[in-house]
Amino acid sequence: MINLDYDTLQAELRSWVDECRPYSREGETAGYIPALGRVPGDILGAAVCDLKDRVVEAGDTGHKFTLQSISKIFSLILALEDCGPEIVFGRVGMEPTGDPFNSIAKLEFTRPSRPLNPMINAGAIMICDLVGGGTAGEKFRRIRDFVRRLSSNPHIDVDPEVYESEKSTGHRNRALAYFLKDTAGLKGDVEEILDIYFKQCSLQVSCRDLAYMGAVLANEGRLPSSGEPMINPFYCQTALAFMVTCGFYNGSGQLAVEVGVPAKSGVSGGILSSAPGRMGIGIIGPGLDLKGNSLAGRMLLARIAGDLNLSIFA
Ligand code: GLN
Repeated sequence: MINLDYDTLQAELRSWVDECRPYSREGETAGYIPALGRVPGDILGAAVCDLKDRVVEAGDTGHKFTLQSISKIFSLILALEDCGPEIVFGRVGMEPTGDPFNSIAKLEFTRPSRPLNPMINAGAIMICDLVGGGTAGEKFRRIRDFVRRLSSNPHIDVDPEVYESEKSTGHRNRALAYFLKDTAGLKGDVEEILDIYFKQCSLQVSCRDLAYMGAVLANEGRLPSSGEPMINPFYCQTALAFMVTCGFYNGSGQLAVEVGVPAKSGVSGGILSSAPGRMGIGIIGPGLDLKGNSLAGRMLLARIAGDLNLSIFA
């Protein structure tokens, strides 16, 4: 497995998690979603999956958490498969914002008005509008089933507590969606689109699920277990590019410098990372930094990427 044999990697991963564990007490959980605020902040765990489908885990990998913004990668890929890049990138841009993930500021100043990229909340809400399906329920089920197939886990489903918590407190997302309806051609019913978004964010996963999905992205869109193609290789490349430029929002530059591996964070403290041609990595560390990315998770990813020479810029 990746420069190291299985047992050595297992031992290394354990020691990297132990080394980074003190940072897990420094972050804050995402209290603006009350159900996420109740999760202990000092959890830390990681799983890696290589392209031969071998998995190594260490730390608190029994802890399940919700995908949150990590889901934005998969709804984007589905929208690209359903509508093609011309339509998708007519509705959302391709540029990093330098702003927090839930910012509304640039929506008013961009002409024509459209979210700057699909990884910020406004962009991801627009993408939910573009995912194919006759009803909102069908659109969501297609996203969920896609995540199930990529992770080879048919049991993935919505965490009802987190979903209710997001839906009842998601005032900022509601504001973004209504603004998009008014200015940026959001076509569907606003509350129905928001429901798809809240549900995709509330899909419950494990580090292992993230590592599997990261490995598919690292494998040009093919399942490592069977080689079966799951994603058009160009859309896979597109997703990886967005992970590098926008995956950690206004912390993406720092991640590129310090880690150098495509990665997407969520406010649950999850990180999905994908080292092309090498491996997928799934991390959980619910304590967040000021930009809403897992604080200890980022340190751990830097440690893994550094020691295994994963940086795409190296
Ligand atoms: N559900 C979260 C929100 O809309 C997702 C944000 C995130 O993970 N960064 O605020």
